Amino acid sequence: MSLQPYPPPSMSERYFVDEPITAERVTLSGPESHHLIHVMRAAPGVRVTLFDGGGDEFPAVVERVGRSEVELSVVSRERIDRELPCDLTIGVALPKGDRQKWLVEKAVELGVTRIVPLVTRRSVAQPVDQALVRLRRAVVEASKQCGRNRLMQIDQPSDWPAFVASAPVETCRLLAHPGVDNGEWKSKKENGMFFAAVGPEGGFDDGEVSLALEAGWLAVNLGPRILRVETAALALAAVVAAG
Ligand code: SAM
Repeated sequence: MSLQPYPPPSMSERYFVDEPITAERVTLSGPESHHLIHVMRAAPGVRVTLFDGGGDEFPAVVERVGRSEVELSVVSRERIDRELPCDLTIGVALPKGDRQKWLVEKAVELGVTRIVPLVTRRSVAQPVDQALVRLRRAVVEASKQCGRNRLMQIDQPSDWPAFVASAPVETCRLLAHPGVDNGEWKSKKENGMFFAAVGPEGGFDDGEVSLALEAGWLAVNLGPRILRVETAALALAAVVAAG
């Protein structure tokens, strides 16, 4: 029996550093230092955990608390892997408003590697740069909370033909589409790379479905009920993660 990595420290003890940690001293600024100074009331000597999104964790000690910055000394570098054993990209026609953020937060928790916002014929929400910045901040917050040391990537939006073509043929490519047979895909998990696609509230149109199927994607049925976009994306992620 192999032991799993220990549970992550609580969110209030984990802080994200927006550049690779290579030195023994780190200065936190922005929302991370704000939280440490004004919410946690950190003082010299307090122990926290830093991560930089590259896969490692860094136990650290607060050395100096400034007005808007906190200086810490790094105690050690520890490789603690809380990633899925596979690489999972989900292309999703993002829902509107708060449901986007919810989807991103849960996708981080489930271990999704990358989200590609899809532009399809029936898409309603086209994420602009500002929305992507907010979603990337949500990735950091969720990673602090769930203990992920690698950040889930959120790409620039892609149109449907480009996304379909971007998935290498040797990967397992899954198109979530209601009412289709899902008999075949469970046996196609061996190479450890998954691309999944979830359509907009209005669904993929026939041309979009044909494009993917002709390129070798497999249609996946997630059950006899129609799921909202975010539910379908997370159900697919959970099934892949559990596999
Ligand atoms: N009337 C639309 C249709 O028939 O495609 C419903 C779209 S559904 C709200 C949004 C997306 O979630 C779909 O394009 C599909 O990718 C996914 N989805 C929802 N329910 C699903 C199911 N039962 N099986 C597979 N995919 C589903």
